[in-house]
Amino acid sequence: MKQPTYVTRPFLPPLEELQPYLEQIWANRQLTNSGPFHQEFEQALCEYLGIEHISLFANATLALVVALQALRITGDVITTPYSFVATSHSLLWNGIRPVFVDIDPETLNLDAEKIEAAITPQTTAILPVHVYGRPCDTRRIQSIADIYGLKVIYDAAHAFGVEDEDGSILRDGDVSILSFHATKVFTTFEGGAVVSPDAKTKKRIDYLKNFGFADEVTVVAPGINGKMNEFQAALGLLQLKHVDEALKQRAEIDGYYREALKDIPGIRYLSLPDCSRRNYAYFVIMVEPEYPISRDELYDRFRKDNIFARRYFYPLISNFPMYRAIPSASKSNLPISSASADKVLCLPIYPGLEEAALERTVHVIKGGAKCLTTRNPN
Ligand SMILES: *Cc1c(COP(=O)(O)O)cnc(C)c1O
Repeated sequence: MKQPTYVTRPFLPPLEELQPYLEQIWANRQLTNSGPFHQEFEQALCEYLGIEHISLFANATLALVVALQALRITGDVITTPYSFVATSHSLLWNGIRPVFVDIDPETLNLDAEKIEAAITPQTTAILPVHVYGRPCDTRRIQSIADIYGLKVIYDAAHAFGVEDEDGSILRDGDVSILSFHATKVFTTFEGGAVVSPDAKTKKRIDYLKNFGFADEVTVVAPGINGKMNEFQAALGLLQLKHVDEALKQRAEIDGYYREALKDIPGIRYLSLPDCSRRNYAYFVIMVEPEYPISRDELYDRFRKDNIFARRYFYPLISNFPMYRAIPSASKSNLPISSASADKVLCLPIYPGLEEAALERTVHVIKGGAKCLTTRNPN
């Protein structure tokens, strides 16, 4: 029986490296509330990522919800339907209405050229996603935001470590949100962060994630409990020591797929993003009409071979029941997103992925390419 292969598998350091961290936690008994590892991890992340201000969270969804509150976002927010549900859910948790704008067919990021047409007097912000760790058109988005007086909150859940010619893309916009969930390139099991541009914004976010406490007796806002604990922070410090190796292995797998899949009719993959440091978070193929079998047939063939490819992002956020009735959620407003969601398939990519599993993955795709069955036109 073949081992199941998933699109991702967390990269964990040797267990004995965790021992000293645990001993320290057991010795000082500080388990949460901005303990020593929490402080050290914030510092270490700032250095590693090339940023100035970061606030750690229990997860990225809480980080998104709190960031929107900290910036006092209300009304309508322009966002992409082509993302994980948490992006739009964070708006609903703040009583904000998402306004869906279509994506660019090459980058699958929010199409900056379509933002202006969606701005109304109720629009207060733009919430784009650096999908698969590929930077958005941050300059164009910022220039639109400047003209219309909008805030920009980047969902950078996929973008750990990504840099363009200006350095970390986490410095773009008003704030950026990272996820350290188990499925992401860098993990603290569960975890997340808000990257702020200045100390004042960070302070407000730190109050909000700790019930609104400014000091022992002062509560300045109706905050929530979004804190990261010492165990997560210790895991993060340990993971940071190994993340470069993990990214290197991802780069090698990405290169392997690009070579092996380059001449298969009907299989397209995204070009390498134009940036000075990439994280190879996902390897994404598009199953085009020329391919003899459909995307879902290919997905089923993978499953039969114990390879669990994923359809990120299908269904679109705009198709879920709590969003469907919003006018901008209509398929006619989102043709590129809708077509992309029907074609996309994410392939296994993670440190330690065995060569045999990689070969099997390519073999299944090549097998599908030789299929003579006529494609179901639906
Ligand atoms: C994973 C993810 C989130 C949510 O992150 P959690 O840490 O699991 O809450 C939000 N947005 C995107 C784009 C994601 O991929």
